[in-house]
Amino acid sequence: MTYDVAILGSGPGGYVAAIRAAQLGLKTICIEKSAGFGGTCLNVGCIPSKVLLYDSERSKDFQRMMVRKQEVIAKLAAGIQGLFQKHKVASLQGVGTLIAPHTIDVQGTQVEAKHIILATGSEPISLPFLPFDEQKIISSTGALSLTTVPKKMLVVGAGVIGVELGSVYKRLGSEVTFIEFCDRICPTFDQALSRELLKMLTAQGMNFHLSHKVIQAKGTTLTVQDLTGEKEFTADVVLVAIGRRPYTENLGLQTLGIQKDPKGFIVVDDSFRTHVPHIFAIGDLIDGPMLAHKASIEGTAVAELIAGRRPLVHYACIPSVAYTHPEVAAVGFTEEDLKAKNVPYQSATVPFKANARARCMGEMEGFVKMLVHADTHKLLGVHIIGQEASELIAGATLAMQLGATAEDLAATCY
Ligand code: FAD
Repeated sequence: MTYDVAILGSGPGGYVAAIRAAQLGLKTICIEKSAGFGGTCLNVGCIPSKVLLYDSERSKDFQRMMVRKQEVIAKLAAGIQGLFQKHKVASLQGVGTLIAPHTIDVQGTQVEAKHIILATGSEPISLPFLPFDEQKIISSTGALSLTTVPKKMLVVGAGVIGVELGSVYKRLGSEVTFIEFCDRICPTFDQALSRELLKMLTAQGMNFHLSHKVIQAKGTTLTVQDLTGEKEFTADVVLVAIGRRPYTENLGLQTLGIQKDPKGFIVVDDSFRTHVPHIFAIGDLIDGPMLAHKASIEGTAVAELIAGRRPLVHYACIPSVAYTHPEVAAVGFTEEDLKAKNVPYQSATVPFKANARARCMGEMEGFVKMLVHADTHKLLGVHIIGQEASELIAGATLAMQLGATAEDLAATCY
C-alpha cells in the first residue's frame, strides 16, 4: 500500500502532523523508533520536567513524584495512541531510514509514501571530555530519572532546561551550582528578564558562576576557567545542559541528497520542503526555537500544505516559558532584538507589586515589560517574570497574533 503521508517521529511535530493529515483525508502512517509515542517532549522533556517542577513546589517526596511522572507519561502516550486510532493513523515501531525518494525502510519493512515528513527531533549536546553516563554525568534525560537526590549538583549551562532542572533539585535539597559560559542566564530572554531571574534564583540559594568555561573534567570534578584563571568545582552529579542538536542519525539523508546547515539543521524552504520537494522537515530538526508548540504548529502547517491549503506560521508570535519560580514567559522581540534591527520602539514596565491580584496571592515579585512600535504602537514584544507568567503570556500572544496596538490592549475590558 502507498500512503499519502509517512511521518518519521512521533514527537509534538510528528504526531500532530499525523493527526492533522488524517483529519484532512490523507492516508497517513507515523513511524517511531521508541516504544512509546510522544517524542522528547512527552518522554524526556516538557512533560516529565513540568511534573517534577510542579510537584517539587508542593512536596519533598522524590520517589512519589517520580512514580507520578511515569503515570502522567503513560496516560498521555495512551492518549496519542487513542487519537491515532480515532483518526485512523497507522503506526509502525522501528528506526525509519530513507532508501529511495518514496521509500522508507523500517528495519526490514518497506513503507511507500507520496509525501514524507521528517520529524526526528533533537538530542542533548555533550562536552567531548565529559560524556554522559546518565548516572553521575547526566543530560536532562538522566536528570529526569535519578534514583536519589544528589547532595551536590553542578549544572553546566544556565539556559531554560538547566535552570528548570536545577530548580527541581534545589527544592529537593541539593546544593546547586551553575557554570555558565555567557555573562547572563537564559540568554534567549530579554536581558531584563535574565537579570531579574538571576536575582530571584540566587535569593533561593542557587549559586551562579557566569562567564565561566568548563575546560576539563576528572570524574565529577570540573576545571573551570574565567578571566582570573582556573578553578575546580566538584559535586556528586554533573548535569550538562548546554543545548540540543538536531537528530538525523540513520535517517539516510545522504542517499537522497537532503542538505543540512553547518549546525546540522535540515535546510528547508518557506514551505518546509527539503531539497527533495515531496520530503518535508519540521520541529527541532529545522532552524528556529526548539519548542514543542513550534514543532506542533509546523506539523499542522505541513499537513495542511500537503492537503492543498495555504497555512501561515507567525514565527514572531511563538511564546516561550521557563517554569521556574516565579515563571518567565515571553513572546515577540526582545529589546536587544529591536535595537539590533533599528526598529523604533517604546517600552513600558509594570511591577507585579502594583497588581492587586498579585498582592492578594502574596506573589509580588516580578514585572511585565511591553515593547511597542514607536509610530504604530503595535505590540512587538511582551516579557513577563512573575507568578503564572505562563498563563498571562497567552493573552499577549493572541494580541500579537491579531496585530493589536497598545491602545487596543488599553481599551480591552479584563
Ligand atoms: P521530538 O519530540 O524530539 O520527537 C522526535 C521523535 O522522533 C522521537 O520520538 C524519536 O524517537 C523519533 N525518531 C528519531 N529518529 C527516528 C527514526 N529514524 N525513525 C523513527 N523515529 C525516529 N518545549 C516546550 O515547548 N516547552 C517546555 O516546557 C519544554 N521543556 C523541555 C524540557 C526538557 C528537559 C527538554 C529536553 C526539552 C523541552 N522542550 C520544551 C523542548 C521540546 O521537547 C522539543 O522542542 C520538542 O520535543 C520537539 O519536537 P519534535 O517533534 O521536533 O521532536
